[in-house]
Amino acid sequence: MREEKKNKQQENPYDAALKMLDAAAEKINLNENIWKRLRHPRRCLIVTLPVMMDDGSLKIFEGYRVQHDYSRGPAKGGIRYHPDVTLDEMKALAAWMTWKCAVVSIPFGGAKGGVRCNPKEMSRTELERLTRRYASEILIIIGPDKDIPAPDVYTDAQVMAWIMDTYSVAQGHSVPGVVTGKPISLGGTLGRKEATGRGCVFTTVEAAKELRMDLTKSTVAVQGFGNVGVSAAQIFHEAGAKIIAVSDSKGGIYNPRGLDPKKVLAAKLKGSSVLDYKEGDRITNEELITMQCDVLVPAALENVITLKNAPKVRAKIIAEGANGPTVPEADEILQSNGIFVIPDILANAGGVTVSYFEWVQNIQEFFWSEEDVNRRLGEIMVRSYHEVMKATRDHKVTPRLGAYMLAVGRVAEAIEFLGLYP
Ligand code: NAD
Repeated sequence: MREEKKNKQQENPYDAALKMLDAAAEKINLNENIWKRLRHPRRCLIVTLPVMMDDGSLKIFEGYRVQHDYSRGPAKGGIRYHPDVTLDEMKALAAWMTWKCAVVSIPFGGAKGGVRCNPKEMSRTELERLTRRYASEILIIIGPDKDIPAPDVYTDAQVMAWIMDTYSVAQGHSVPGVVTGKPISLGGTLGRKEATGRGCVFTTVEAAKELRMDLTKSTVAVQGFGNVGVSAAQIFHEAGAKIIAVSDSKGGIYNPRGLDPKKVLAAKLKGSSVLDYKEGDRITNEELITMQCDVLVPAALENVITLKNAPKVRAKIIAEGANGPTVPEADEILQSNGIFVIPDILANAGGVTVSYFEWVQNIQEFFWSEEDVNRRLGEIMVRSYHEVMKATRDHKVTPRLGAYMLAVGRVAEAIEFLGLYP
C-alpha cells in the first residue's frame, strides 16, 4: 500500500481527500489492511442519462453515485448538479462524508452523487426528467437502509421530492426515508434547511470562546450565498455579528456598516445574484477571501483557499461551510499565520446531523419540534467540537488532522469488528 501511495497520479480532488486520510492513518498508526481498504470507495456507479429536452432533442448526461464506506450504517450524502462534476470529485466528496458522519458520531457511512449538467440552463421540466431518470438508474443501490441522498450544490427539496417519488413508485408505496432534505409536507424535518449554517455558527461560537473573541462585535464574510451561506449569514446576523460581505458565482458585495442577509436574499430572489442588492460595493470572490474580517465562511465550492491566496487571508477564524474549500498545502500556511480553521468535516456536519434526525423521524413516524431539532443539533456540534479540539491538543496537530484522526479511528474500529468477508 505504501507503494501505491508513491505511485503518484495526476492531481485531482480524490488525491486531496487521500492526503488527509494518509496523514491521519500515519498519526494513529492505522492497521495497514484497513488503511489500504479505506483508500478505495466501496462502490462507484456511473450512469448514462438520456433526457428529452423541451425542444424535442435528446441530450445525454453522465451521473454518478459513489459509496465510500458503509461499515457504520447506511451510506449518506448529497447530490450535486454542476457542469464540473466528475467521478473523482464524487469519490472525494463521498470519502469526506464517511469522515464527517464519524466525527459527529452518527451511524452513517459516506456517499455522494451528482450529474454533470448546467441546471441554470435547464427548465424545471427538464430538471424533473433528468432527476427521475437519474433516480431510476441509481435505484438499485439507494434506499432507507442502504444509501440516503440529500441536497447539495444546485439541488434542493424539490429535487429530493422527485427522487422520493420515483423510488416510491418503484416500491409501490411511499418511502419518505429514502431521502433527506425533502419538503416538510413529505416528511422533511423542521430545521434541516438551516442546519448546515447553524452548525457552522455553533462551532464558531465555541472557537470564539477559545480565542476570547466577542462574536457580537465581530465581522463575517460569507462566500457562496446558497443554502449553507444564506443560513450561516442569517444566524450569525441574529447572533449579533456584522455580515460585511457575501458573494455568489457572479461576484460579491461589501458593506462595512453591515448587510441584512434577509434583504440581500430578497434582492437575489427577485434578480439572480447578490449583485442585485445595491447597498454595497462590488467585490470579487477573490477579494472576499482575503478581506479583513473576523470570521470567513467559505460556503461555495472546493479549492478556493489555495497556496496563492492563503498567505493573504486575514480572518481570525475560518468556518468551512463548503466541502474541501482549502487545499491541503494551504492549511499549513493558515496554521502558521495563526488562523483558526474549523475543518469542513466538523464545521459543516450540521446538515448531515439533522438529516440523521429526519431519517430517525421518518423511521419512527414521529416528528419533533424545531426547538428539539436545534437543541439536539447544538448538543452534537458542541460535543464534537470539543472532542476534535481535545484530539488536536493531545496530539499537537491542526484541528483538521485532529478531526481526521478521530474520524478515521472510529471507522477503523467498526471495520475491525466487522472483519473481512469472506
Ligand atoms: P447551493 O447550490 O445552495 O449554493 C451554492 C452557492 O455557491 C450559490 O450561491 C452559488 O452561486 C455559489 N457559487 C457557485 N460557484 C461559485 C464560485 N465559483 N464562487 C463563488 N460562489 C459560487 O449549495 P449548498 O448546498 O449551499 O452547498 C455549498 C457548499 O456546502 C458545497 O461545498 C456543499 O458540498 C457544502 N455542504 C452543503 C450542505 C447542505 O446541507 N446543503 C451540507 C454540508 C456541506
